[in-house]
Amino acid sequence: MGKPTGFLELDRQDRTYLPKEERVQNFREFIVPMDETDLKAQASRCMDCGVPYCHNGCPVNNQIPDWNDLVYTGDWQAALSNLHSTNNFPEFTGRICPAPCEASCTLNIDDNPVTIKSVECAIVDKGWEEGWITPQVPSHKTGKSIGIIGAGPAGMAAAQQLARAGHDVHLYEKHAKAGGLLRYGIPDFKMEKHGIDRRVEQMQAEGVTFHYDTQVGIDVTGAELEAKHDALILSGGSEVPRDLPVPGRELDGVHYAMDFLPQQNRRVGQEPIGEIEPILAEDKHVIVIGGGDTGSDCIGTSFRQGALSVTQLEIMPMPPEKENKGLTWPDWPLKMRTSTSQEEGAIRDFSVMTTALVGEDGKVTAIKCTKVDENMAPIAGSEFELKADLVLLAMGFVHPVHDGLVEELALKKDGRGNVAADTATYETSRAKVFACGDMRRGQSLVVWAIREGRQAAREVDFFLMGETVLPR
Ligand SMILES: Cc1cc2nc3c(=O)[nH]c(=O)nc-3n(C[C@H](O)[C@H](O)[C@H](O)COP(=O)(O)OP(=O)(O)OC[C@H]3O[C@@H](n4cnc5c(N)ncnc54)[C@H](O)[C@@H]3O)c2cc1C
Ligand code: SF4
Repeated sequence: MGKPTGFLELDRQDRTYLPKEERVQNFREFIVPMDETDLKAQASRCMDCGVPYCHNGCPVNNQIPDWNDLVYTGDWQAALSNLHSTNNFPEFTGRICPAPCEASCTLNIDDNPVTIKSVECAIVDKGWEEGWITPQVPSHKTGKSIGIIGAGPAGMAAAQQLARAGHDVHLYEKHAKAGGLLRYGIPDFKMEKHGIDRRVEQMQAEGVTFHYDTQVGIDVTGAELEAKHDALILSGGSEVPRDLPVPGRELDGVHYAMDFLPQQNRRVGQEPIGEIEPILAEDKHVIVIGGGDTGSDCIGTSFRQGALSVTQLEIMPMPPEKENKGLTWPDWPLKMRTSTSQEEGAIRDFSVMTTALVGEDGKVTAIKCTKVDENMAPIAGSEFELKADLVLLAMGFVHPVHDGLVEELALKKDGRGNVAADTATYETSRAKVFACGDMRRGQSLVVWAIREGRQAAREVDFFLMGETVLPR
């Protein structure tokens, strides 16, 4: 621990945001980084706990106290290599992770955790700026070939680990670029996409071959890839959205969030949106149904497109303003959170169930709702109607797409419809075929996808070689 009294002397300080009036004018990132002096001071607040709960709260088990100390003492390069030893892409998590590590930090017991996520992001951003992050080309080749299907964070992490272990790695992706939901779901204002391109270049130099515009199960069969490679990893995500089966669902102007968000990401990335109807929030009253991350991304995107108003409806009751730390710490607590997008002017309502969508000439014009009690039962007399020109459904994802690859390979599924595989071996019911990320665990977080990609890579390396030096 660099400074034993740091946490006693200094208050928590974090990155700030550009003012909302300014940031909604464009789709650029708006986090204002801290300067080096402030970062070192914040890192010095870490107590180097005997039992570092942060380390366990972090799904990739980042060695947080170690790099806090290295930042405090100014050894940024050692901090970077420590960070990379557990996380292939800290610049992704340093921007979009909800930071369960901070909820677990011992200093969070009195509400002032170490600013772990900002220190993480600063280490890796500095690494890129200084040119310290270069391809790690393997010194030997194993002669084994691996096909990975789906270039989201899980597939990318698995591919990088396996290429560095000397395997010939082929990453198949149905879209034109890599990144999965990081590229096509999460808006640029949360994470600009040049960071993904930079990692793709690094991975290509390390020996990963990307096959874009290749939907496995359609453009090439799973069986063909099985015959071509010594092992397959499936990392196709959890792409089937939860629907809202109410009268009026078929009206024009009612869309899934993942029909809306990728269009804007493609516009920003100067990719064609394809032969589809553009969905835009400009001059519209927008209703977002669903209170999670995806809903927030719809809100921020709608404001940047010029929406007249954005209302977000959540069926769950309003969570408590503050959690009971005695009951929840060091776990992730349920409490009221306001995202930067919600802060930009969204109206939020809780315990609301949508009962119908109303329209004129086939276009949605309003939404009918009712308040519900704690058992989700409608409360008589609480019905209300809201004007709506665009309704975005952001109620989560139920499971991976089954048509195509999953059906073709006759893979066993778990009770929720995900591809069945445990986290000890990541093996599916079919020999030589492994699964990881949202496709295996269901809708989750980028940091969990990275963890699963890394762990699956280790298991595949062990499966092929009978030994492995890759970490779990
Ligand atoms: C709008 C939105 C916002 C989110 N915000 C956050 C956030 O702020 N923080 C956070 O941590 N998490 C967030 N998440 C969740 C996070 O993005 C996912 O948990 C994570 O991306 C899962 O990674 P993955 O690699 O398992 O799958 P994905 O990212 O879904 O990647 C799967 C890839 O497989 C490809 N693919 C699928 N089937 C095939 C096939 N048959 N052939 C070829 N390619 C195929 C897909 O095109 C895709 O590129 C968000 C999710 C959404 C939808
Ligand atoms: S729990 Fe907090 S204070 Fe303790 S080691 Fe981790 S970051 Fe430092």
